[in-house]
Amino acid sequence: MPKVFDFIVVGAGIVGLTVAAELLKRHPSARLGVLEKESGVGLHASGRNSGVMHCGIYYGSDTFKAKVCASGARRMIEFARTEGIAVKQCGKVILATAEEQLPTVDKLMRNARENDIRAERIDSQQLGELEPCAAKGPAAIYCPDTAVIDSAAIVSRLKENLARSGVEFIFDCHVNGVHGKGQLQTSHGKIGYGYLVNCAGAYADVLARHFGLGEDYALVPFKGIYWKLSKASNSKVKANIYPVPDVSTPFLGVHFTRVISGEVYVGPTAIPAFGRENYGIFQGIDLNEALNIGLLLAGMYLRNESNFRNLAHCEMGKYRKSNFLAEARQLLPTLEAADMVPTNKAGIRPQLVNVKTRKLEMDYILVATDDSMHVLNAISPAFTSGFVFAERIVDQIELR
Ligand SMILES: Cc1cc2nc3c(=O)[nH]c(=O)nc-3n(C[C@H](O)[C@H](O)[C@H](O)COP(=O)(O)OP(=O)(O)OC[C@H]3O[C@@H](n4cnc5c(N)ncnc54)[C@H](O)[C@@H]3O)c2cc1C
Repeated sequence: MPKVFDFIVVGAGIVGLTVAAELLKRHPSARLGVLEKESGVGLHASGRNSGVMHCGIYYGSDTFKAKVCASGARRMIEFARTEGIAVKQCGKVILATAEEQLPTVDKLMRNARENDIRAERIDSQQLGELEPCAAKGPAAIYCPDTAVIDSAAIVSRLKENLARSGVEFIFDCHVNGVHGKGQLQTSHGKIGYGYLVNCAGAYADVLARHFGLGEDYALVPFKGIYWKLSKASNSKVKANIYPVPDVSTPFLGVHFTRVISGEVYVGPTAIPAFGRENYGIFQGIDLNEALNIGLLLAGMYLRNESNFRNLAHCEMGKYRKSNFLAEARQLLPTLEAADMVPTNKAGIRPQLVNVKTRKLEMDYILVATDDSMHVLNAISPAFTSGFVFAERIVDQIELR
């Protein structure tokens, strides 16, 4: 007899874990299972990010992200404090380094007002007090509520709490597809469900296709690599220094983050990658997948969709330390090559492209059948949004 659950969550990243917690809260006596292809939680995006709890200033008030980011950050910080997990509300500065960025600075301040987020324009003296080594450009914003958190500790505590409350975790369990109504085909054989929530991150679109959904989307993985400041230059950055982002892409640009351990990371890049788990040069590349991604990238490059050609040139160039340094120096002019030491920290952002509009999807997307909900494009700030995003997902499930 196959195992049967009332609810199955596929994926034990932050989205799957917070969704499982919300389902458990609303249905305490339901049989709840979390299926994860790896041997533990948070081994992909949720354990490989910058660990920044974003305040929500980047998102227009009409977006899904805006509705869940600021309140999600507050909930995540509260969870960390209650559970004794390291979190530090250290604030961040966003620096404009060119006059052309001033309209975006105004847009960010408008977002802050509309989303009820604390943010202020600061002058060069205030900037000097917060970040003495930062570049003095035409404008700067200070966001006092930005925090850094130990993301790995968050996901493992969520797992411990859920397992203690009776949620069953099945690790090394790859969900391969559906086998008739209410039954999954997995590497552990058939597993039955009443309702399924697909939180499979970089593979959420693949799983959604087994349910006849997600045909409008293709996925492009973008690789985020980081450098680290050497011990000797670590004090050049006090907290977080971010550039003004290009709001036509979902990426925030290379930034400096003093993480919870006190180390300062520089990055991440957003380099088009050839595999959804291609963290190294060739690691995690499946030939078939690489071919499909390669064709998609070539099409986007030729058609220059979403200014893709410029993005690709600029980001691929960052495999060279000198190019990476040049970008980082715009924020921190005294930075020298010797200040940046290599690190093996790397993550992949699974970014959806809409094949009809040919644009990068900028927001979270939920699609559903009568017995399944699929979380697509759970890109940044999905870690920050975690708990509140999960509430909205489960609200949608209950509405159906
Ligand atoms: C470099 C980088 C920096 C970032 N910085 C930040 C930041 O500072 N702040 C922030 O809020 N967000 C940040 N993000 C974004 C954030 O990390 C992600 O949005 C978030 O972690 C996504 O969570 P997830 O649960 O959807 O995906 P994941 O954590 O990838 O989890 C999905 C899980 O599903 C499993 N899975 C996939 N397919 C299957 C299958 N078929 N069967 C079983 N299991 C399966 C995977 O093994 C994986 O464990 C960053 C992301 C990256 C890559």
